[in-house]
Amino acid sequence: EADFCRYFGSPHAVSFNSATSALHACLAAGKLDEGDEVIVSPYTMCASATAAIMCGATPVFVDIEPDYFCLKVEHVAAAITNRTKAIVAVNIFGQPADLEPLAKLSKQNNLFLIEDNSQAPGARYKGKFTGTIGHMGVFSFNRHKTIQCGEGGIVISNNPELAYRLQLIRNHGEVVQGDLPIEKQQSEHFDIIGFNYRLTELQAAITRPQFARLEQLNNHRVELAEYFTERLKEYSFLLPPKIRNTCSHVYYLYPMIYQKEYLGISRDVFVKAIVAEGIPIANYVQPLYRLPIYRTKLDGKSN
Ligand SMILES: *Cc1c(COP(=O)(O)O)cnc(C)c1O
Repeated sequence: EADFCRYFGSPHAVSFNSATSALHACLAAGKLDEGDEVIVSPYTMCASATAAIMCGATPVFVDIEPDYFCLKVEHVAAAITNRTKAIVAVNIFGQPADLEPLAKLSKQNNLFLIEDNSQAPGARYKGKFTGTIGHMGVFSFNRHKTIQCGEGGIVISNNPELAYRLQLIRNHGEVVQGDLPIEKQQSEHFDIIGFNYRLTELQAAITRPQFARLEQLNNHRVELAEYFTERLKEYSFLLPPKIRNTCSHVYYLYPMIYQKEYLGISRDVFVKAIVAEGIPIANYVQPLYRLPIYRTKLDGKSN
């Protein structure tokens, strides 16, 4: 936690046993409740949205930017109602969402802005690290991510009250080593439902040396990505990732857009053919609102 505070210039960091539990804890720390709405990208790993359901709140999906695959600010603005409590912006594939206007929007409407930064540790938006622009920024250390300790996660925040509540939620609502005065700790002691969301010391020990090499790990990814982008110029049917102006991309994944009209075969067939050549590419997730759980939850219909 101290390492994260130092590197990101963030006064608080609270470790978790996954980014999923961290996302749930962020919304719970924001006191989200039944009937509240959370605006979230549908084009992400499912935990970005299930966190809202875990609080009894409703995820509200809005369309994304076709170029960068992140929340489109105009659509977010249009989806805000008097029940909206939070925005979960996902810095998908390693690139920042359009965080500055999203932060402005959340300020104007008194909403929490949570950055799901699981895929973008060390990326920058106008020189600022992703994860530091929202009220809370979530990182993952699962075995797919840039930093891996088996399972783990962390939240960084500037806000001492939120950090304090995150600590309580992590640990049964008990035993806090916080910055707040003792009186405050006592008064909230039993006023919150906590879980066992603790990262173990063993996992933290595995995480630390990798975190110390984050820049190196990212630079290597960027180097490979730039090589791909250069070489892919020969193939008009594959569009390489676009990078948002004034931002950096840390390429958790290398997202390409396949244009089937050039080759005349479906994306699925193309992916199968490339995989058969030994190159590990895949379709990314389908939009979350197409999954049965969301159709049931959101429409009241089964499947
Ligand atoms: C991996 C990931 C998560 C979940 O991380 P875990 O640590 O496995 O719980 C959440 N959101 C996004 C965008 C992810 O890529």
